[in-house]
Amino acid sequence: MNKDRLPGTAWRTRLLAGLAALSMQFFSCSPGSEHPGHIDAWENDLPSYADELRFVDDALRIDIAAIDATLTYRPQEAAVDGTARVRFRMRPGQTRPRIHFDPACCGDVISSWTLDGRAWATPSDAFQVVDVPGSTQRMLEFVEEVDPVREHELIVSYRLALAGGYPCFSTEVHDLKGSGNEELFPTLNTPHELARHRITLRVAGAAPYRCLGSGSVACTAAGDVQEWVLDPEREVASYTLMFVLLPEADTVLRQGAIAGIPVRICAFRGGADIDAAWNELESWLPQLVADIGPFPMPRGLSVFLVSGGGGMEYFGATISSLSALSHEVFHMYFACSAVARTYRDSWIDEAVTSWYDRTYPDYLFPIGEDFRSSMVSGRSPVAVGFDGRAYYQGTQIMETLARRLGGRSALVSFLAYVHSRYAFAPFSTMDLADYLLDFSGVDMRDEFREWFYSDDSGGTADVAVPADCAAPPDLTPPRSILRRQGLDHGRRGRDGGGE
Ligand SMILES: [Zn+2]
Repeated sequence: MNKDRLPGTAWRTRLLAGLAALSMQFFSCSPGSEHPGHIDAWENDLPSYADELRFVDDALRIDIAAIDATLTYRPQEAAVDGTARVRFRMRPGQTRPRIHFDPACCGDVISSWTLDGRAWATPSDAFQVVDVPGSTQRMLEFVEEVDPVREHELIVSYRLALAGGYPCFSTEVHDLKGSGNEELFPTLNTPHELARHRITLRVAGAAPYRCLGSGSVACTAAGDVQEWVLDPEREVASYTLMFVLLPEADTVLRQGAIAGIPVRICAFRGGADIDAAWNELESWLPQLVADIGPFPMPRGLSVFLVSGGGGMEYFGATISSLSALSHEVFHMYFACSAVARTYRDSWIDEAVTSWYDRTYPDYLFPIGEDFRSSMVSGRSPVAVGFDGRAYYQGTQIMETLARRLGGRSALVSFLAYVHSRYAFAPFSTMDLADYLLDFSGVDMRDEFREWFYSDDSGGTADVAVPADCAAPPDLTPPRSILRRQGLDHGRRGRDGGGE
């Protein structure tokens, strides 16, 4: 996701100067990196880094192999009927499964629950909703233990109520807040849980719909019901899966190839300028291929171009405004193929992207020598979302790495190196420091500990921009379309629209 581009800089310059002065005062009484106690301190209390994987296993319990979901959208009823089949095994030492599925945490939406072939007469008896320490998300914890070794299959049927208004059904992932597709089907909402997804999308209604999404999107006739099968064709993180379903008559589509990459750009009729987006990609995609490597998604790129707000990146797809497009497309490399191990590590995606595409040029200077933060260690490994300092201080840290390596092209080469070796192999913040050492011989592990696993005594925490400054894409159709639908004041979406 991108954040709103920054307004005037004067206030911020003053703020930074003030905080820098403040941080100097704190720095003078903070232990240095050579202090043995401080070296230990980066192994934080949330748990220690060394215990992170164990902690994540204890919290998330299962390892998903595949999710096959059928989502039938009923525009007339503003509802979706879903059936999901999840195949999983237990993580080491675990016997009682848990899964994320937000609607069932908030209401009685599940109409059938079958585990390993056994249907429960009353689905709500099969699980309890639990709070997970360290996470603001709740999970469904199965009431019975299962075999810790063999594969299991959970099949659930459910109904989702949409907000109504304009008849559009789409993913609405918000990575800064940490909400993902657990709002639409049972899954694990964590970056490192890569799983095969096959989502069958159906529309019950006579009006022709258009479907745009991640990976292969095959239209499959099914009588009176329109149907598409969406398949990324490889294991991906659930929150990187995108689809948009909306009336075909309200949309325009341009498709073709740019530098050999299949590209589809769709927008509301009378809405965003798809030719301008196409022109931008004609220079941007070849640049990314030359700098970072082959486009990571064999089926290319699908863009739903909106007129307002920012953007959100997905596997081989984005819902984005024109101003955020280049940022979101760079995320195909970092966020949608190279992925962080936990949400708290995903500052990496925003820092790398914001630095590469110069999203915030005012921040393209090295991080202050006194900068230290709990950007990673201040959050639990099972917390959702990430620290907002990823964007601005993250950009400065990337600029610091660039200068240490010898300039912009050297850091770009490092990014290409990381992507070529670690795409679809989730890695942590300290793994990235190790990769830097492997690549260049430059050891910045102490700095990484200071920057990410220290504390906020440098006074820099207040520089973080509040999370509500994030700019999700606004999928509100042009007024001409709303008027035609008799919805001039209507808003789309499960929560009534963008923000
Ligand atoms: Zn972003």
